Amino acid sequence: MDDLLKSIKQKVRPLIGQGKVADYIPALANVDPNQFGIAIYSNDGALYHTGQANKNFSIQSISKVFSLTLAMKHYGETMWQRVGREPSGNPFNSLVQLEYEEGIPRNPFINAGALVVSDMNHSRFATPHYAMREFIRRLADNPKLRSDKSVSNSEYEFRSRNASMAYLMKAFGNFENDVEAVLHNYFDNCAMRMNCIDLAKAFSFLANKGYCRHTGEQVLTHRETTQVNGLLATSGLYDEAGNFAYRVGLPGKSGVGGGILAIVPNRFSICVWSPELNKAGNSLAGMAALEALSENIGWSVFG
Ligand code: GLU
Repeated sequence: MDDLLKSIKQKVRPLIGQGKVADYIPALANVDPNQFGIAIYSNDGALYHTGQANKNFSIQSISKVFSLTLAMKHYGETMWQRVGREPSGNPFNSLVQLEYEEGIPRNPFINAGALVVSDMNHSRFATPHYAMREFIRRLADNPKLRSDKSVSNSEYEFRSRNASMAYLMKAFGNFENDVEAVLHNYFDNCAMRMNCIDLAKAFSFLANKGYCRHTGEQVLTHRETTQVNGLLATSGLYDEAGNFAYRVGLPGKSGVGGGILAIVPNRFSICVWSPELNKAGNSLAGMAALEALSENIGWSVFG
């Protein structure tokens, strides 16, 4: 596996320089684009990694999977009254469907959906970001993880689109808490800094029928785990979920910080990171690395 990861790193290196680091939040635009890391964690606890797999980055939308998991644990099936389970086919920050679908976002992985899920977690926890941070630290087995305030403040300053979505949902009666307070927590969650190894470990329960081996915790039931993986496969890559299914064939979630999580059910959790993005907002080298990996090992779930 180590040799394969090194050869994949070499193969995707020429792509670095051809994408664009996210710059709609000034604090994200300062990242050195010339970076690549990958980590794979197996259900029996083996860890493989290469490149800058130890380097922290902004997890951004990958945090939406943690939020969904926390909400599912508490609300179960009732949460689906407030958020759908269909791919949106639209960019992550689009507002268009919200108006004619009466404030019910298409899925929990577009921004509107993640904001509703954050609102649910806000109703449940007295200090929602700290509850989330503790949950993430435990799953990643890393007590030092924290959010980058300069990123979350910058996101809050440039919050107009996310705020518009949240207020529109509030107008439709699909938002319980103070919008500005939920936005702060949502941005704090997005601004968590983690590395590929942290993320591969933290999401190992999705590859292991809901069980996290290093905490001994059944995070979700087996059934809920298959449901989350199904949603990741259909909606985890913004408006590029179809292309990701075609090229990689795994449940996955990307973030504009350049990270992509991918799950090989019953076997491995993977995180790849390279900051330059393609037009859909997904890591250019990261997608190519996962495609090469999946092709080499025959990991597509559609095989
Ligand atoms: N915090 C980002 C936003 O709300 C998340 C974007 C992403 O990674 O898709 O715009």
